[in-house]
Amino acid sequence: MGYGIHKGEALVRVATETKTIMSSRKKYKINPETLLYEIDKVSAKSRFLDFLFKSLGMIAMCFVYFWLYTSVFGLELPKTTILKKQNAEWVSRLEVLGKEMEQCESTLAGLQMRDDQIYRNIFGMNEISPEVRNAGFGGVNRYSYLDVMGPNSLLLRTTMRQDILTKKTYVQSKSFDEISAISKRAGDMASCIPAISPFLTDDSKYTLTSPFGYRSDPITGSSKMHTGFDFACPPGNPVYATGDGVIESVKFELFGYGNSVVIDHGFGYKTRYAHMKSIYVAEGMSIKRGECLGESGNSGRVTGPHLHYEVMYRDEYVNPENYMDLTMPKEEYAEMVKKAAQQSSKVLTPHTRVKMPN
Ligand SMILES: [Zn+2]
Repeated sequence: MGYGIHKGEALVRVATETKTIMSSRKKYKINPETLLYEIDKVSAKSRFLDFLFKSLGMIAMCFVYFWLYTSVFGLELPKTTILKKQNAEWVSRLEVLGKEMEQCESTLAGLQMRDDQIYRNIFGMNEISPEVRNAGFGGVNRYSYLDVMGPNSLLLRTTMRQDILTKKTYVQSKSFDEISAISKRAGDMASCIPAISPFLTDDSKYTLTSPFGYRSDPITGSSKMHTGFDFACPPGNPVYATGDGVIESVKFELFGYGNSVVIDHGFGYKTRYAHMKSIYVAEGMSIKRGECLGESGNSGRVTGPHLHYEVMYRDEYVNPENYMDLTMPKEEYAEMVKKAAQQSSKVLTPHTRVKMPN
């Protein structure tokens, strides 16, 4: 043996080293000069590159696996499945909500129609205009927080629809409040609506000179709507309230209506008494049918002394002839005036009565 060791020793050594190699994770290589196994020393750079390539390989494997799972086999990740389920549930809820709102809208539309055509009509109240009923919410974009959902998303549409429904319900609710308040006075309706002549029904005291409607203007001669009814008489004839109400305005004008009184009778009715000589009432005063408002005269734009009497219903002029009974016996009228004067002393404070020079 030219290597200076016995064959037996070499075998034992090889066997021992092989055992050592088998039981170790370290890498070994044979040194061709000594014929011995030596630890294969790997540089840190090589180990790092090895680690890096293996890691990249694993990441690539993950991507391939994900691609095969989702795109090739059409499978979903568990998280995606849960989110999709939750999304479908929310869409179903919104659709159910939409159907419920549809029913509410239908019921509300019926209420609005009855409100305008029956309830408000009964009490002489104007209909609520569609502009008011359908008014939206102005100002800043209150739905900006939903922009992320898209301009036509189900959630945005549902939210807007719900807001409109809320607004319409609020308007309707306020209307019912008004009706409720006025209906408590429904028993007073008969005494409030203008129903008598503003003058004592003694036709020796006045002359009916100009009815309601188009006529030739007594000053300019052109055709013009005459919005009232004229009772010609010498100044100083007592003028009486034709229905219960509240004095809305008392005006003293050089032109136009001259000295005039407007009474708000409620239930949509108002009356105006113009060209008066003197006025005994003040704004805000409660007034009873048959109470004296003042004296007729010739103030304002007139060609002669007369009382110009107007009836307005829901802010429109109507023919006073349809609202006064000129055939009422003068004794009955006088009795009514007497009673009204007796009640007046209880209700009205004398110092609030003002007599203005004509
Ligand atoms: Zn007139």
